[in-house]
Amino acid sequence: MGCNNHTMDLQLAHKVVLITGGAKGIGAAIARSAVREGAIAVIVDRDAPAAEQLQSELCDAGGKCHVVAAELTVAEDCSRAIQESVRITKRLDALINNAGVNDRVGLEDGSPAQFVESIQRNLLHYYSMAHHALPFLKESHGCIVNIGSKTAITGQGGTSGYVASKGAILALTREWAAELLPYGIRVNAVVPAEVMTPLYRQWLDSFPNPDEKLRNIVSKIPLGKRMTSADEIAAMVVFLISSQAGHITGQHIFVDGGYVHLDRALT
Ligand code: NAP
Repeated sequence: MGCNNHTMDLQLAHKVVLITGGAKGIGAAIARSAVREGAIAVIVDRDAPAAEQLQSELCDAGGKCHVVAAELTVAEDCSRAIQESVRITKRLDALINNAGVNDRVGLEDGSPAQFVESIQRNLLHYYSMAHHALPFLKESHGCIVNIGSKTAITGQGGTSGYVASKGAILALTREWAAELLPYGIRVNAVVPAEVMTPLYRQWLDSFPNPDEKLRNIVSKIPLGKRMTSADEIAAMVVFLISSQAGHITGQHIFVDGGYVHLDRALT
């Protein structure tokens, strides 16, 4: 491999990174990684105690982190979250749309009304947050990362609302990347497959034999036969919001050990 004198300086010091659903799971890993790189994290989450616990952990270690409690299914909360964040930090450099829940509103078991509610839980706040963040991202020439899901590509069965939302999120990543070109605002999606988080644990525990289910899933992950760690998702997000990723936009990046794209015969 060629060698040069450049180190991978992400230049995130003092950048403000707002993470929806940043109190737990993948969002918390993103907040930790961003703060480790010197950024100021703003955690927007409905679980205020968990968010405040993470804030204490990060601030005790010398990092900078703020919490805005918000229920993102409420439209006014999205606008308030952005306004409050900017009131505290005076700027916004990166929006990480991450909050979501695999809520099992299926075609057969769900209803049209439940489908709409699922879209509200998983999709509408991605748009609202981006819409309200835009004036501040224009000022900072900032960027957006949307967290998607492999289910948008593979299907899962029994979860129409979640999958419709995640499909739309991939489409909107391209659409927003196109619309925001004139402002130099980059928009990318990171697509996880299997990551152990409180949400994933809950989903797993809904099966009659969770341990067997987990063994079965892990055996089908091509690279290393293991789950992706939340830190590995966070590392990609933090790279994407950095100046090192300055010419990457409109991309769907799968951090999944080859789960979605490699030949199934390999496992
Ligand atoms: P998680 O463990 O449930 O953490 C998400 C956090 O977001 C929780 O604190 C949750 O609060 C909060 N949140 C959810 N909906 C919210 C809302 N409407 N308003 C405010 N806060 C809200 O989830 P995760 O597994 O880290 O998932 C994060 C993202 O990754 C989601 O978009 C998910 O679809 C995606 N993803 C995850 C996996 C995986 O394997 N884990 C795979 C593919 C995609 P509560 O605890 O109160 O709900």
